[in-house]
Amino acid sequence: MKKHNFSAGPCILPPEVLLKASQAVVDFDNSGLSLIEISHRSKPFVDVMEKARALALELLGLEGKGYKALFLQGGASTQFLAVAYNLLENKAGYLNTGTWSNKALQEAKLFGDVQEVASSKDANFNYIPKGFEISSDLDYFHCTSNNTIFGTQLKSFPKCDIPMVCDMSSDIFSRELDFYRFDLIYAGAQKNMGPAGTTLVVVKEDILGKVSRQIPSMMDYKKHIGSGSMFNTPPVFPVYVSMLTLEWLKNLGGIKAIEEINNKKASLIYSEIDLNPLFKGFASKADRSTMNATFTLENDNLKETFETMLKEAGINGLNGHRSVGGYRASMYNALSLDSVKVLVEVMSELESKA
Ligand code: PMP
Repeated sequence: MKKHNFSAGPCILPPEVLLKASQAVVDFDNSGLSLIEISHRSKPFVDVMEKARALALELLGLEGKGYKALFLQGGASTQFLAVAYNLLENKAGYLNTGTWSNKALQEAKLFGDVQEVASSKDANFNYIPKGFEISSDLDYFHCTSNNTIFGTQLKSFPKCDIPMVCDMSSDIFSRELDFYRFDLIYAGAQKNMGPAGTTLVVVKEDILGKVSRQIPSMMDYKKHIGSGSMFNTPPVFPVYVSMLTLEWLKNLGGIKAIEEINNKKASLIYSEIDLNPLFKGFASKADRSTMNATFTLENDNLKETFETMLKEAGINGLNGHRSVGGYRASMYNALSLDSVKVLVEVMSELESKA
């Protein structure tokens, strides 16, 4: 039985993407060769890379606007330092909304001064700070659009007259935003895009080349742009699967279409959390993530029953992160509304049993 996969990442991917990807591993486009045994410099793979890069820009509405898309390696965690390597000359501002933004901030400190513009650490990151000022003498401002662990999400982005950098690892391609407001976006593939192993970087070219330091080639966005995201052997399989997922999203109607579904999934689970006295939401209501719903079970005695019911319903990956505890329902693009309905049914059945 196929499971209802609420895993936080790596996570669910569209079934047709998995099927096409598995076929390509055996025989890529009837070539008699596997996708993972051909040269990355061969035309068939260069076409894959170019298509993936073009689709990323197209879906974000950033084609022809001075941006380049790259598929790099080292996870989003490598971008924590790559961003600072390429952009931090004197001082940068970071919004601290949880584990990942804090890690990004700590890495940047190795390259220059870092100002914590605002933080929600005082309440274990259960909300998004608001009303803070961003000084125009900073080199850039960095934020995390969706906090995977705590289940909070920036619903609006601050006014900013310096370059804005955003880690969109856990909500890229899930909702419409004015992506043109961002100068650099990065996202690990393993949530809304593909398998772990590649990270999408979308960068406005004119913010680059302004720091005085020497940048090692593998960290240098300009070098990656100059070599068509092929400075070294790219992660061919993750890039191919990302391309397939982006195609799937485009055929579905793009970000606008998936956002509607994502909103339905989120309102279904949050209304159950709010109505069912057995559960309590973790994140502040105004800042609740449409991707990761975090909640706790109020009565510990029901834990075992609930978990057995989840198992019987084929629900996978609902355990919360250790820093929050409780449960986390990750509802990335490929998770169906039906899977959320199954979870909500289990939650309400628990109430009737209690
Ligand atoms: N940023 C966010 C928002 C994340 O959720 C994660 C990981 N889940 C990371 C960064 C780190 O990504 P990676 O493991 O690809 O380095």
